[in-house]
Amino acid sequence: MADAARHGRMPVDEARVRVLGAVTPTDSHEKVPLPRALGRVLVEDVAASVDVPPFDYSAMDGYAVRAADVAGATKGSPVRLRVGGRVGAGMVADRPVGTGEAWRVLTGAPIPPGADAVVPFEWVRAVSPNGQATSEVPSGFGGWTGAIDEVEELAIDVTAAVDAGDDIRARGEDQRAGTVAIRAGTRIRPAEVAVLASLGRRWVWATRRVRIGVLSTGDELVGRDLTGPLPPGLIRDANAPGLMAMVERDGAEPMDLGQVPDQATAIRDAFIFAVQGACDAIISSGGVSMGDRDMVRHVVQGDGEITIWSIDLRPGKPFAFGSFRGVPIFGLPGNPVSALVTYELLVAPAVRRIQGEVATGLVEVPAVTEVALVNDSGREQFMRGVARTFHDAGGVVSWHVRPTGPQGSGILSSMSRANCLIRLPATTTSVPAGGAVTLSLPGVPSLW
Ligand code: AMP
Ligand code: MG
Repeated sequence: MADAARHGRMPVDEARVRVLGAVTPTDSHEKVPLPRALGRVLVEDVAASVDVPPFDYSAMDGYAVRAADVAGATKGSPVRLRVGGRVGAGMVADRPVGTGEAWRVLTGAPIPPGADAVVPFEWVRAVSPNGQATSEVPSGFGGWTGAIDEVEELAIDVTAAVDAGDDIRARGEDQRAGTVAIRAGTRIRPAEVAVLASLGRRWVWATRRVRIGVLSTGDELVGRDLTGPLPPGLIRDANAPGLMAMVERDGAEPMDLGQVPDQATAIRDAFIFAVQGACDAIISSGGVSMGDRDMVRHVVQGDGEITIWSIDLRPGKPFAFGSFRGVPIFGLPGNPVSALVTYELLVAPAVRRIQGEVATGLVEVPAVTEVALVNDSGREQFMRGVARTFHDAGGVVSWHVRPTGPQGSGILSSMSRANCLIRLPATTTSVPAGGAVTLSLPGVPSLW
C-alpha cells in the first residue's frame, strides 16, 4: 500500500467506490411487458396483490384428514377412516370433511374445509370393500393419470399420526397480499420473472436500457470486417466486440463507436458522436498510457476532466475515468486482458448503477490454490483462474483454484478459459500450493 501511494496509484476498491459515486442512475423509465423484462432493473416496489398461494393446498398425494382423528395411529394400531370424497388439482371439494373422514387429495389440490393435515399415501393402507385391511397402498397412486373418479375405495387405514398443518402449503406462505415481493432497484433475473408471473403481473416499470458507447483506439487496428490475411504490423480489434458483449451481458445497450487511429481529432470526434447519440457512458480502449501516441486522456481533459488515473492493479494499471462533456467516460488499457479485467472490476458496477441497480458489489469467495502463485508486480494482481468445488475425505466442500496458464495481459485465451479472478494483494508476493486466496466472481450478481 505504501508502495502504491508512492507511485500515486489508486487501490482498485477505492477506485470502484469513487467511480460509483460519480455516476448517476438514469431517471428514464418505461413500461416493459413481462416476457421482455429479463435483465431490466425495476423502478417500482412490486407488491403482491393477492396471497400466493391463493388457498391452502396439499403438498403430497394422500388424504386430507383431521389430525385429531389420527392421533396415536401407528402401524400396529392403525386408525380407520371413511373416504368422503376426492379432490384433484384444479378442483374444489363440494362439502367439508367430517369427523372420522378422509378425502383423497392430489398434490396441488385445495384442502377441503374441515381437514387440517395431509397423510401421504405411503402411510395409508387400502381397505378392501369387505372391510378387510390390506398391506397395499390404495390403488391409483404412483401412476396417477388424473382419472380421479376411477378410484373407489370406501375406507383406509392410517398407520401414522400427523400434526395439524402437516403437508399443507398454507395460503400466503410464499407472498402475502400487500407486502413487497421485489424491491425497486432489483435486476430482473429468471427467478424474478417467475415471481412476477405468480403475482399476475403482465408488465413492470423498469429503467430504460441505458446506452453505453464503445470505442477502440489504435493505429494498429484493422477494420473489424476484414476477412483476408492481416496486413503486416496490424492486428484485429478484440476489445470493442468483447466490451460490447460485456455491456450487453450487464443489461445495457452497447453503441458501436467503431475504431479510430491514435489521433486526438479522431478520438474527440468519436466521443462527441457518442454524446450526441445520447450515450449514458463511454468506454474506450487503448491509448491511455504515457506514450507519445496515447491521446485519450488529453482529449478527455480538453472537454472535461480526468478524476482517476492509474490503478494499483495488474493487469490494468493504465485506467482513466472522468467525464467528457458531462458524460462519464472510462479509458481502458488496450491490452485485451486488461480491458476486460478493468471492465469487470471498475466499469460493470457503474453500468449496473447507471441502470438503477442497487446491488453493484462483486461476489468474492475464499479458496485454496492448487499451485504456488507469484505476484512480483508490486500491485494488486487479478489472475485468471479456474475454480472448482472440492470435496475432501471428511465431506467438507471448498473452492479449489488454479491459474489458466500464462498470465500476460495480451494472453486473451487466459480469459476465455477462466471462470474467476484470483485476487492477490499488492503486499502478497507469493502464495504456496495449498495456501488461501480470495476469488472474485465477475458476472455473478450480488443481491442486497
Ligand atoms: P495501448 O493501451 O494502446 O498501449 O495498447 C496496449 C496493447 O494492446 C498494444 O499491444 C495494442 O496493440 C493492444 N491493443 C490495443 N487496442 C486493442 C484492441 N482493440 N484489440 C486488441 N489489442 C489491442
Ligand atoms: Mg496504443
